[in-house]
Amino acid sequence: MTSSFWSPVVGTLKPYVPGEQPRVPDLVKLNTNENPYPPSPAVLAALDAAVRSGLERYPDPESTALRRTIAGHHGLQLGEVFVGNGSDEVLAHAFQAFFQHADQPLLMPDITYSFYAVYCGLYGIQALTVPLREGLRLQVADLQAPAGQRVAGVVVANPNAPTGIGLPLRDIEQLLRQHPERVVLVDEAYVDFGGQSAVPLIEQYPNLLVVHTLSKSRSLAGLRVGVAMGQRHLIDALERIKNSFNSYPLDKLAQAGAQAAYEDRAYFDRCRQAVMDSREGLSLQLEDLGFEVLPSQTNFIFVRHPQRDAGGLAAGLRERAVLVRHFRLPRIEQYLRISVGTPDQCQALVDALRALLAQPA
Ligand SMILES: *Cc1c(COP(=O)(O)O)cnc(C)c1O
Repeated sequence: MTSSFWSPVVGTLKPYVPGEQPRVPDLVKLNTNENPYPPSPAVLAALDAAVRSGLERYPDPESTALRRTIAGHHGLQLGEVFVGNGSDEVLAHAFQAFFQHADQPLLMPDITYSFYAVYCGLYGIQALTVPLREGLRLQVADLQAPAGQRVAGVVVANPNAPTGIGLPLRDIEQLLRQHPERVVLVDEAYVDFGGQSAVPLIEQYPNLLVVHTLSKSRSLAGLRVGVAMGQRHLIDALERIKNSFNSYPLDKLAQAGAQAAYEDRAYFDRCRQAVMDSREGLSLQLEDLGFEVLPSQTNFIFVRHPQRDAGGLAAGLRERAVLVRHFRLPRIEQYLRISVGTPDQCQALVDALRALLAQPA
């Protein structure tokens, strides 16, 4: 539907479609890369305390205590950390702050987090996609400006989504050196599950912006907290956008809960290790069932079966109360993206797949 009341850009938008959040209970939910474990008990205690004190007041607009904690966690200065209402909001601000350069396209891989193209539509940025190579691997040398043209910047997810494949830090450095005059945004939503973080490069590279989220490795998808880290001049740009958009993106509960999540390092390490262990076991079990499993450094695996249609498998799993993600997109329509669950959830998935594969194709 369109309407003459709309600003013209509204009709041109192709909004992001998030994975289903089912209303029926008892589904094995492996479709949106949430953490299968609940947040730390320390987070729950911090939320409880925050609920009881001062909700009638506005929260700290600068989220200072939280940012100080994150800075300490990563060995950065307070002024090198920005927080927002989920990393999706942080990414949106970054696209507006760094990638709107008239007639210059933003470089990104053809298969990556599909929200990047959505922000391009929202902010009038042209996306220039570079095909992933054999095995859905990114060759960073391919992320080059076309001859005679400048680019607005580069965005990569590392590890990439939905492939799960991570790049070594030397590839990120190569990218930073290829584009010294533009921001290279590295979205590390999944880095805590075995990837290599570029945060230690911030000191050396004025063009590096690293984005994190608490939705995956810290089990706080429901709290909506995202982080950007970079040198002060980049963070200042994000602050200018934020303070022209919403002064209070993080409510009092989000600030308190997120801070407690960073402070409980032991719980964080246990959960992500459990997920990584389950991922390795699940990958082997799916290979035994004949699936091809891309090497993952995330909390999901990207798989395909040489003899079975991925859409058919996703539908069959759904009938068996297991949700996975299937993207009807060129090049990846025969893959399934499966979030790593608890051991019981992984077993339910494997059992359902085994039953499906026992039926004639
Ligand atoms: C999940 C995800 C995000 C969004 O995280 P939120 O903080 O929940 O908004 C960003 N980037 C990638 C690659 C993701 O997979």
